[in-house]
Amino acid sequence: MRHATFFALSVLLFASTHAQADASFDQCKLGLMDMAESVGMSAEQSHDLFSPIAYQPDVIKAMNAQPEFKTHVWDYLAGLVDQERIDDGRAMLTQHQDTLSKIEKQYGVNPATVVAVWGVESNFGKIKGKRPLLESLSTLSCKGRRQAFFKSELKALLQLIQAGDLNQGGHITGSWAGAFGQTQFMPSTYQRLAVDFDGDGRRDLVDSVPDALASTANYLKKAGWQTGQPWGHEVVFLSKAKAGKFGRKNRRSVAEWQKRGIRFMDTGVRVDPKKKAAIIQPVANGPAWMVFKNYNAIYSYNASQSYALAIAMLSDALRGGASAPRTAWPTSDAGLSRAERRQVQTWLIEQGHDIGEVDGILGGKSSAAIKKEQRKHGMKPTGRAGQAFLKLTYLGGKPPADLKIHSTKAKKPAVVKPKRSQR
Ligand code: CA
Repeated sequence: MRHATFFALSVLLFASTHAQADASFDQCKLGLMDMAESVGMSAEQSHDLFSPIAYQPDVIKAMNAQPEFKTHVWDYLAGLVDQERIDDGRAMLTQHQDTLSKIEKQYGVNPATVVAVWGVESNFGKIKGKRPLLESLSTLSCKGRRQAFFKSELKALLQLIQAGDLNQGGHITGSWAGAFGQTQFMPSTYQRLAVDFDGDGRRDLVDSVPDALASTANYLKKAGWQTGQPWGHEVVFLSKAKAGKFGRKNRRSVAEWQKRGIRFMDTGVRVDPKKKAAIIQPVANGPAWMVFKNYNAIYSYNASQSYALAIAMLSDALRGGASAPRTAWPTSDAGLSRAERRQVQTWLIEQGHDIGEVDGILGGKSSAAIKKEQRKHGMKPTGRAGQAFLKLTYLGGKPPADLKIHSTKAKKPAVVKPKRSQR
């Protein structure tokens, strides 16, 4: 009896806190509906848009979540600058050749860089985010740490919907934080920098590839892109002690860096000695680069060193250059390409782990399963899979024929399946 009462009481308590949360969200929603009217929507439109919207606790959770562990820069790059993305990017360069050369003429940004941003942001328009954007932004506007910021993003989104720029209107989807479309712009960035390049009078960065690519170029141009200039070059140190402080903000002339014992890895590189540059070295004893203004333009797209390097290196690879630095990353267990990650996932499923779909993304479920297998096989249970873990997945020491680990040839298997006979 006591249990039953306790149970009933807790259900009641649970229901009432939920009702309170709903009531305060509904109250806040009224304010958002006023905001919709302030950008020119009718009361009816605004009501239709907001009445189905419910508070999304998982969005607040996503905002507050701390990553379980820091991703190594070499893991990050191995997944983003893999042969698959280079092949896909080259196909895109050919397919959108005319548009890209018009964009280059107008904005001064080369096709390889524009396509590299596209590839990293949305895998060339294939991954744009599945969360209902209005619901996410409404939730973040009404609860959590950054309500004012998200409210202004929501307002920008409402303006875009009102202007008719988006085919999806209020049904638009994106990331939990509000970035969306092929370029993953936040609504306010979209408002400021998106351009109509296919000439239909609308700036559509979800369904129009020309609009998306030109908007990326416009973004980079506004961020200080210098036409015809490199983003950077890999360097080596004659004397590290003499080199001084590194980092994106510590800019000196090329001549000054050379005086401090810094040399280009490729001795054929010619740069104006008066040009200002910075030295970046993401991890001690790893590769280092001398970077120029165009690196900063890429960096401004998403303030992360790994991110900027991914785009820079992918753009080099798309131009026929190297896709990895010549100096090795300081690890004995290099990262995995997406094909290799799918191989790991396929194997984990075969071992009986419930990790969801084979998607090439090693998320929480995959990581937990990797940990278990690492324990089972006497490896350190880190939850991270690199080349050492990959070796577990092909018993007998031979990789499956359809997984070309060291190949530089095209490979685009949707799912890599090891053949029975090889296990
Ligand atoms: Ca357009």
